[in-house]
Amino acid sequence: MAELADPHDEELVHAVDTHRLYRLTPWLVRALVPTQRIGSYLLYSPSIPPYIGRSDVCLRRRLLRHAYNRRAEFFTFDTHWSQGHAYTMECAVFHALHPQLSNLIHPDAPDHLDINCPFCRDQWALPRLSRPLGHPTERFVPNPRSNP
Ligand SMILES: [Zn+2]
Repeated sequence: MAELADPHDEELVHAVDTHRLYRLTPWLVRALVPTQRIGSYLLYSPSIPPYIGRSDVCLRRRLLRHAYNRRAEFFTFDTHWSQGHAYTMECAVFHALHPQLSNLIHPDAPDHLDINCPFCRDQWALPRLSRPLGHPTERFVPNPRSNP
């Protein structure tokens, strides 16, 4: 086994290692996922498309439910320091993998947070709509001459 040149390299190895796939069993979820943590996760099975999800309260409890329901064979996860960060991460993965995911609908924001997905085209359009260039609705009245 090669020696690590710098003690921080070991931390790097562990950080990368958190993104491996783990078998979705209750004992492994309990062993790996801390309690009462906000988190996002991906579920994998060889036969079905991956599924992205998150928990705003307790990631371990959510993953245990999936494990008991045999929702998938493998999982990977991240813990997050805020519900907003978890939602943004879930959206990022959703947009990156969307055609291949089993999720049919866009992730929903936490109810009490006024937050929008930063990756939706509609959200990118909002700053343009709010520019002071006349009334926004006037700009979307279809021009009959442009559509023959
Ligand atoms: Zn989005």
